[in-house]
Amino acid sequence: SGGSTSSQGRQLATAQPAQEERLVVAVRVRPSLEATERCIEVISGGSLLYDDGGKSRPRKYSYDHVFKENDTQEQVYKTTTAPLVRDVLNGYNAAVFAYGATGSGKTHTMLGPVPRKKPSTADRGPTATGGYEADVSSQDIGLMVRAIEDIFGHIEAAGPESSTKVSISYLEIYNELIRDLLNPGGPLELREDHRGQRITVAGLSEITTSSRKEVVSLLIKGNKARTMEPTAANQTSSRSHALLSITVQTRTPLGTKQGRLFLTDLAGSERAKKTKNRGKRLQEGAHINRSLLALGNCINALSGGARYVNYRDSKLTRLLKEALSGRCKTVMIAHVAPESKHRDETKNTLVYADRANSITTKLQSSVYIDEFKNFPTKHYQSLVSELRDEV
Ligand code: ADP
Ligand code: MG
Repeated sequence: SGGSTSSQGRQLATAQPAQEERLVVAVRVRPSLEATERCIEVISGGSLLYDDGGKSRPRKYSYDHVFKENDTQEQVYKTTTAPLVRDVLNGYNAAVFAYGATGSGKTHTMLGPVPRKKPSTADRGPTATGGYEADVSSQDIGLMVRAIEDIFGHIEAAGPESSTKVSISYLEIYNELIRDLLNPGGPLELREDHRGQRITVAGLSEITTSSRKEVVSLLIKGNKARTMEPTAANQTSSRSHALLSITVQTRTPLGTKQGRLFLTDLAGSERAKKTKNRGKRLQEGAHINRSLLALGNCINALSGGARYVNYRDSKLTRLLKEALSGRCKTVMIAHVAPESKHRDETKNTLVYADRANSITTKLQSSVYIDEFKNFPTKHYQSLVSELRDEV
């Protein structure tokens, strides 16, 4: 076990120094759903042209990555999320959030195509299991499932000696109320430790599993529990934010190393007016905009290098504080629709993403959180008892 100790030592040494790490901002253009005029043209893997309908010359926007309509889920995963998974396995926190108006492709990216109706049994092949695989072809599978598969792949590759525990929680924020998507019930409260540093959700189920199949089915079931409300903009629009958290704990001779990956499917960023919201729907719109506004304000403050960033304005920003406050890497995937009729929402999203693009977050390791502190004492205690035996 001497060899494993020294390899852990190397890992510790490389994980320690704080590195400069920008927030990565990607824009994904979904395929056009109809043959109409377009307002977006992707000109490279990092830039696109936006056309405001002839009022002024097309404007160029540049980001860390621009995914065009026929780019695959695998390409999006490899570019945005795979590097974060490696960090999470090394004890860092990381976050990916999908931003954009309703219908721009957020859920497609995070989860994959969600069947609108129950597929009829006649549509299913003879090997259909009735599960996710039966409804969605493997190339369409989204980032959430890919990340989990990838994490289990790394753990299996590390061999049977690795003692790594994976647990997940999945919640939605709807009208500023938090609901557990793995165990739906009444709203849950946010708790803060005395210094306001660690934020937890009281009573949220955290499911530990070593079976990737189980995780996938939990996720699909959880997504079905999301609050769906039809709006004029999109019949299957979800007015809720969905936040998946994957925690990876590895026991090493030096203590327990913990990394956490947040994957967030944000609610539609469109303005309440456009969706002709009324009554309850309008209130939802107001809450959604409040949390996305709060997120935008945090991003603005961070990009301006502000000393004080207000995370307290919404549940979303309080929960994502860990992700945005510079203690982990963050990837924002902003989604846009290419059809001209979505021009205004597309512009809003491009501007939001452009602002986010200038943030620099500092990466700090949170490895060896608990037992590391006790390690030297334990070590010396056993050394002392060994010496006693020798006497
Ligand atoms: P949102 O979650 O942002 O409201 P969806 O993910 O539901 O949007 O996407 C809206 C529609 O566009 C769905 O029918 C979805 O299957 C389709 N779609 C979105 N992105 C893609 C893509 N990259 N490739 C193929 N279809 C897509
Ligand atoms: Mg959606």
